[in-house]
Amino acid sequence: MPSPRVMHQAVCERDKSFEGVFWLGVTSTRIFCRPGCPARTPKPENLRFFPSVAESLAHGFRPCRRCRPLERCGETPDWLRPLLAEVEKDPARRWRDAELQAAGFHPVRVRRWFQSQHGMTFHGYLRARRLGAALGKIGEGEPLLNAGFDAGYESVSGFREAFEKMFRLSPGRARNQTALVVRPLTTPLGMMVAAATDTELCFLEFHDRRAFEAQVKTLARRAGATYSPGDNAILQQTELELEEYFAGTRLDFDVPMAMPGSDWERSVWEQLLAIPYGETCAYSDIAKTLKRPKASRAVGTANGRNRLTILVPCHRVIRADGSLSGYGGGLWRKQKLLDHEREVRGAS
Ligand SMILES: [Zn+2]
Repeated sequence: MPSPRVMHQAVCERDKSFEGVFWLGVTSTRIFCRPGCPARTPKPENLRFFPSVAESLAHGFRPCRRCRPLERCGETPDWLRPLLAEVEKDPARRWRDAELQAAGFHPVRVRRWFQSQHGMTFHGYLRARRLGAALGKIGEGEPLLNAGFDAGYESVSGFREAFEKMFRLSPGRARNQTALVVRPLTTPLGMMVAAATDTELCFLEFHDRRAFEAQVKTLARRAGATYSPGDNAILQQTELELEEYFAGTRLDFDVPMAMPGSDWERSVWEQLLAIPYGETCAYSDIAKTLKRPKASRAVGTANGRNRLTILVPCHRVIRADGSLSGYGGGLWRKQKLLDHEREVRGAS
C-alpha cells in the first residue's frame, strides 16, 4: 500500500486512480469506502487503510452504501446486484446453494464472481461479515457482548447467537475453566484469529476458513475453555514470530503451543512438526512412519483438525502424486505458504 500520507491525500482529493489499490475504513461510523467515495471527507484520526475488501471486513467495517466498495466502479454485473442488496438487508442470513438457486442466482456463478473479485467465496464473504465485525470491535477493546450490536447489524439476532455460541461467556461456567484470550492478527494472507492462555498458544486459524466455528467449539470442549477478548504476552510473541516468518527471517516457531487432541491426532501433529521448512511430505509417508500404512485418510483427517495453522505446518503435507490436496484455509494459501518457504530456502 502507498504511505498513509499519500492515501490520506487521495481520499481528500477523491482520487479515483487509487481504486483497487486500497480501501479506507472510518472508525467513527465503522463503514469502509473506495478512495473516490463522494461522501464527506472523514477526519484523518478516524481513518484506517486496508489493502483489500476482505481485510476491511475482517477489521469490522461494513461496505458504504454510497460508493459500494464491493461493486468496484460499475463492474458489478446486473444479475448480482439484487443479491448484494439482499445481503446488506440481512447480513446474518446464511444462504444455502438451494436458496440461492430459488432466488434466481446461480451458486457457481456467484462463487466465481466473489472469488475473482475479492479472492474469497460468497460464503467466505458472509462469514467475514458475521465474524469480522465482532472481532474488529473486540480488537479495539469493546466489551464482548456489545460487539456486533451496531456496525450495520440491523438483524442482530443470528449474529449474536452465533457469536455467543462461539465465544461462550457464561460467568458461572467460566469459574473452573481455562480462560483463553482471543484477538485477531493481521498477516499477508489475511486475518487470522489467535487464542492463548497465559502460558500457551491454543488456536491460530484464518478467520474465513470453512470450519472456523466448529474448530473454536471443539477447542472449547477439549480444553474446557472460555474466551475473552484481549491481548497477552503469548499473543504478542505469536504476532512477532508470524511477522518474522512472513519476512523470511524465521524458519521455526518458539512460542509455546498447546495441542489438546486424541492420541492419534497428537501423533500426526508431532509428525507435521518434524517436516522441515520448505519441504513437503505425503499423507502416506506419515501413515507409514506411524506404522499404519493404510491410514493415509485418517492422517488427512487429523491434519485437517490441526488448530495451529502455519505453526504446525499442515500445509507441508501433499498427496503422494505431488498434488496439493485440500487445505482448510484455502488451496491458494497452501500454495503461497509453500512458494514462500521454497523461495526463502532457495535464497539462503
Ligand atoms: Zn463510500
